[in-house]
Formats: sequence, C-alpha cells, structure tokens
Amino acid sequence: MAAGRIFVSDITPYGGADVVRPSENAVWARPEPCLRGLGYNAPFFTAGVRMKDCPICAASGEEVLWRNDRMRVIAVHDEANAPAFCRVIWHAHVAEMTDLSAADRYELMETVCHVERAMRRVLRPAKINLASLGNVVPHLHWHVIARFADDACFPASIWAAAERKSAVSLPEDWTRQVADILADEAGKKLVIRALSQHEYGV
Ligand SMILES: [Zn+2]
Repeated sequence: MAAGRIFVSDITPYGGADVVRPSENAVWARPEPCLRGLGYNAPFFTAGVRMKDCPICAASGEEVLWRNDRMRVIAVHDEANAPAFCRVIWHAHVAEMTDLSAADRYELMETVCHVERAMRRVLRPAKINLASLGNVVPHLHWHVIARFADDACFPASIWAAAERKSAVSLPEDWTRQVADILADEAGKKLVIRALSQHEYGV
C-alpha cells in the first residue's frame, strides 16, 4: 500500500493503489486525532471505511426508497425549504467522486439521473437541483431537489433565506411513487452495471 496508515484490520484492494475497501468484517475506523477537523479526506483512511462519528455512516430510521449493495436513495424530510428532496448516498465512507472506480462512479451518476427522472414524473417541478457538497459531512452523497416557482426560496438555493411562505402542494404518496419508479428501473440498472463493467473492464 502506498502512503498513509490503514485504519481497518481487514482490507482488500479496490480501485486505485491507495484506495481500499474493507471486508464485511472490517472494524470501524476513525482518523488519527491529529487529522480530525483538518478536512483531510485522503482515500487511505476514508475509502470504504465507516466512520464511527459520521452521521451518514451512523444514520438510522431513514426512509429508503431504493438500495443496492453500494448505495441507497432516501427521502429527506428535515429541510424546511425543500419539501421534495431525495438523497443518493454511497454506503461506504468515501469523500470524493474520484475515490470511486469508474464503474461505480458511472452507476452512482446513473442512479442520480434515475431519481431526477422519477421526481420529474411524479412532481412536475419547475427545476431539479443537483448538489454534492460534503463540506460538513465528507461522506459522498448527492442531493436531488425538486424546485417549484412558489416554494420558499425559488429561484435561490434552498439553503438561502426564505423569501415567502411555500405554497407547494405535493401528492401525499410522492415518495412511494418515486420508490415504485426506482424499483421498475432496478432491472435496467443491472444491465447498466453489466455494460459499464464491460466498458471499463472492472
Ligand atoms: Zn460516513
């Protein structure tokens, strides 16, 4: 292994030379105290590792709309200015898109697009906002947010100050409808995975 210490007891090579994925039995890991809080996200301790103090790794009670062994799609209900909000979360604690293999990165973005398409069908928004920030929680995830002309912040970001009281009305079962569409797409995703493996040889 190249530079850096590995903080898991049982790892298998994955992706590039510095990128590792823990086996099923790997212990939880955390960066050394000297690195905490410095925004230090080098793959040698983030890739494939579950961080004990990461809120995404430790999340429970999520409304999961779809999942496979690498990622999950959840509905987000704690953003006051965004009543139609989904999040695509990579299970393993990686920080950046370039911590993923090409095939995994392709599949993640395809999933983001599946979610976008499903939300457009169900919600008919004025716009979809995609965002991947991770400055506060450096665990790879994509926000997929349906925006409406009469939502609280439009056209500003949902994290801007609210400009009006939202007048958005959503189907009560919108998350179930999105979940149903994603389930229908699951078979196609298997094909996408096979094609990307063929294309990238991984
Ligand atoms: Zn995490």
